[in-house]
Amino acid sequence: MSAAVPFLDLKAQYRAHREAIDAAISRVVDSASFILGSEVEQFETAFADYCGVRHVVGVGTGLDALRLILLEEGIGPGDEVIVPANTFIATALAVSAVGARPVLVDCRKEDSSIDPVQAEARVTPRTRALLPVHLYGLPAPMDELRRIAERGSILLVEDACQAHGARTPQGNRCGSLGKAAAFSFYPGKNLGAYGDGGAIATQDAELARRLRLRRNYGQSMKYHHAVAGENCRLDGLQASILLAKLSFLDAWNEQRRRVALRYCEALTDSAALPPAADQVPRSVWHLFVVQVEDREGFQAHLRQRGVETGIHYPVPIHLQPAYAHLGYSRGDFPVAESLAQRIVSLPIYPEMTEAQIETVIDAVLSWSPAPISRR
Ligand SMILES: *Cc1c(COP(=O)(O)O)cnc(C)c1O
Repeated sequence: MSAAVPFLDLKAQYRAHREAIDAAISRVVDSASFILGSEVEQFETAFADYCGVRHVVGVGTGLDALRLILLEEGIGPGDEVIVPANTFIATALAVSAVGARPVLVDCRKEDSSIDPVQAEARVTPRTRALLPVHLYGLPAPMDELRRIAERGSILLVEDACQAHGARTPQGNRCGSLGKAAAFSFYPGKNLGAYGDGGAIATQDAELARRLRLRRNYGQSMKYHHAVAGENCRLDGLQASILLAKLSFLDAWNEQRRRVALRYCEALTDSAALPPAADQVPRSVWHLFVVQVEDREGFQAHLRQRGVETGIHYPVPIHLQPAYAHLGYSRGDFPVAESLAQRIVSLPIYPEMTEAQIETVIDAVLSWSPAPISRR
């Protein structure tokens, strides 16, 4: 039996938009334009318009998007890139994949975003880029980060993989706030494909040109290769699905806000600490993350009431075995470490019904935590 409130319900989204999506898939199959055809071009143009940038280049995944930006900006061995300790592993992987060193920074207590003051303190003569993440759909502190980048002639690159459609207080979309931005279309993202997908957004025509070459074998004309490139293209079928879904994205993000607002209001005095209510209009709510003591007990309590939860993320980057060689230790990033012990993600998606939202709220409110463990 499926949960009363699954963590995510991609099937509900498909049911709601089956005709538009089936039609998109049929167009590609009928025209057999599976690789870099007109659907990819149309999606790139539409998504560039949406983000308010001149160029979008579709690639295979979000990790590809991040990695190719760094590669084409000439970042490699001997270089440092500043990334948050509190993020999905891909942010750091992109840096190490090009041979550069991820330099980690703790996050702020108030919104779990990279702390710009600590980021500035980590700048060295080897720092080539700042790579903030718009975590959970909330824009990172870009004004502060831009000042640091300009002062040090450092690139500002966005990991916008969780922030499709989010806007800054000035009204600019995530994806248009730095030298280039990476998006992921992993199925569970706010704009998700039916498989892997990714894109790079940039205002820089020359960077976009080089990225187009690189993602397609370095090919300038068929079988003529200007550079030793790679194969990491956005798939034609995925592009057609993304194009169909893009027209719903703003409405979906509004639906996510509706859920977030209900949660924030209802959980204010509960044992699960919600994000600050002033984040409701500013975030696109890829995830709704609360903080609890006795997380295991909390998750079991919700599971018993048919509510699935997640943890994003249980281990900060500096404590991952994959990055042991960076030489960090426990205690280096206390805010990220404390969050990793306490955070739980509640279900949030556009198709949630009022009854499902109430089920989640009731489950949280009926949780009475065990006495706080002495540690
Ligand atoms: C999803 C995600 C990525 C990676 O995207 P993929 O398409 O899975 O490669 C990178 N960074 C963040 C913050 C993400 O959430």
